[in-house]
Amino acid sequence: MIKTTPSVCPYCGTGCGIGLRSDGDKVIGVEPISSHPISKGRLCSKGWSAAFATGHENRVTSPMIREGEGFRKASWDEALTLIHEKFSYHRDHHGPETVGMISCARATNEDNYAIQKFARTVLKTNNIDHCARICHSPSVAGLQQTLGSGAMTNSIADVGKADVIVVFGCDPTESHSIIGSDIMKAKEAGALLMVVDPRRTRLAEIADVHLQLRLGTNVALLNGLVNIILERGWEDKAFVAERVDDLDVMRKAIAEYTPERVEEITGVPVDQQIQFARLYSHARAAFLAYGMGVTQYVSGTNNVMSISNLALICGHVGKQGAGINPLRGQNNVQGACDMGCLPCQYPGYQQANDPAVRDKFAKAWGTTVGQIPGMTSLGMNEAMLDDAFHALMIFGEDPVLTDPDQNQVTKALKKLDCLVVVEMVMTETAQLADVVLPAACFAEKNGTFASCERRVQRVRKAVNPPGECKSDWQTIAMMAEKFGAKGFGWANSEEVFNEIVSVTPIYSHMSYPRLDESRGLQWPCNTHHPDGSPVLHERSFPIGKARLIPVHNLPTAEQPDVEYPYYLTTIRLHFHYGCGSMTRKSPLLERESPKGLLFMNPRDANNQKLFNHAPVGVRSRRGYIETRVVVTDQVPPGLLSIPYHFFDTPSNQLTNDAQDPVTRMPELKACAVRVEPLARD
Ligand code: SF4
Repeated sequence: MIKTTPSVCPYCGTGCGIGLRSDGDKVIGVEPISSHPISKGRLCSKGWSAAFATGHENRVTSPMIREGEGFRKASWDEALTLIHEKFSYHRDHHGPETVGMISCARATNEDNYAIQKFARTVLKTNNIDHCARICHSPSVAGLQQTLGSGAMTNSIADVGKADVIVVFGCDPTESHSIIGSDIMKAKEAGALLMVVDPRRTRLAEIADVHLQLRLGTNVALLNGLVNIILERGWEDKAFVAERVDDLDVMRKAIAEYTPERVEEITGVPVDQQIQFARLYSHARAAFLAYGMGVTQYVSGTNNVMSISNLALICGHVGKQGAGINPLRGQNNVQGACDMGCLPCQYPGYQQANDPAVRDKFAKAWGTTVGQIPGMTSLGMNEAMLDDAFHALMIFGEDPVLTDPDQNQVTKALKKLDCLVVVEMVMTETAQLADVVLPAACFAEKNGTFASCERRVQRVRKAVNPPGECKSDWQTIAMMAEKFGAKGFGWANSEEVFNEIVSVTPIYSHMSYPRLDESRGLQWPCNTHHPDGSPVLHERSFPIGKARLIPVHNLPTAEQPDVEYPYYLTTIRLHFHYGCGSMTRKSPLLERESPKGLLFMNPRDANNQKLFNHAPVGVRSRRGYIETRVVVTDQVPPGLLSIPYHFFDTPSNQLTNDAQDPVTRMPELKACAVRVEPLARD
């Protein structure tokens, strides 16, 4: 019998509602949900193709243990016994700092909560991280310092309430297509659209103002804009006086960023700087959205704080239609952060370095918890290379493809005594594992996802998982039993969620029935905001007054030179998502965009005598790939862009792992390369 199960799209952080059409244990299609508060009956091409991500082809359906160069099937008991042996040996003999876990931004909150609880209570380590490290960790760190909360301040619906929309370092028409379409609709209805991006993106083409700054000069531009606004007295004086600290410090620190100097650094003409500053500061409500063109730099946290400085002096925080809005990439990257899958934070952003927080959780969980500060995923990689890290468990992530400097990541993982990968398919990372455990996909489990606007929504099981696949929280519960640990005996996902609510103050008034009734609730959802919070900071900031924190412009870690004359930046395409492991299963999406390509300005192509679709090699100091050129003026001379979804043209062979000192975010948006023409085939 064919049925429709309401759930949430498994791709980007927009959190669109989908109905999963299933026949028996097969998802046969997807339909939009007209009453959904965000998508309102719309889906992008990825959402429409979500059924393909649930197919049983190539699925890992039973535990597998490495045997020589390959794998053999194993029972759950045998696989878990081996994991127990290896992890408890290293925890007890070399210390909890030598073992760790990577959770999954595509898995449910319930899965992520269980994973970090296991790391902290069973492995006694804070070595727990996930892919937010390489997308929005600077948003969490930067906005927490300036506002006291590291999430999107407003709601997606606020796009339609703004008179000015700023899109900074991203193209939502590609990466968050429903938000992209809301922006285009708002522009049609009269909102002014301003884009800040080194590339001439699709939104830049229709924008009223496009500041085409040089790669990696965000801080200089933002400081310059703040300087223009303060010099001319265009700031929101009442808002600043009442709700913001440190204006004088800011004024003094950024005085050197004169429009002329900023033009020299960024390439943005003085008149365009002044035009932008005037339009943004005079707006009634300006909605500012940003993406990884802000965060994926060695100055990622500084970039985020600079954006915050600009919005705060203009009073565009704490009201409808405005805000500072990081567009989170993965369907549940917000939730994985909410659940404390970060080395420095417990669920609900409670600080792991605070002894009172550790005591609170130890009491709630009825056991001791890890005391040593944890390492980020990249810190764990470095420790592996130094032979100081021995056993790692990875849930649903493929760092070999998604982390920078692929060769080093592979080398690090090969040094482990035990690598466990919990996955749906044999990814590049799973190929290196000692044990692979089978995972259920989003259509095969119950739980919740938190979208980028902090909306926690129900995900529902439409079909049974194939073979022995399980939800990650169930895998963790079985593993905990093998380790003799108590506190993991949940009967269903609702029991896990109820435990989450009991220890996570920002979720404290949520429950499955309330989420069902309301089509999702936005945190904080607590005594003060029992029906959730569409807009943060309306009356106060969690830190009292918001802080202006002046920062200075830093060059990118690597710059073009004679040997490597181009800047390379990584981008996302509309038809694919993440490392492509889900979207590339769809023949429709694959037909639209089958291969990785290198985008190059016509002037550079002409200089190198390259034509459209010419085969080329691209080389950086770290690696080499072969691909084809697309000649386009979407990129300026000297800048190349490359999508990162394709395992056959892995951009992370080339990227630089130089890191933001605050969050250890690698600089995925900027490295130096050269292009080598290949013989025509
Ligand atoms: Fe899915 Fe994002 Fe597309 Fe919505 S915009 S349908 S959440 S991929």
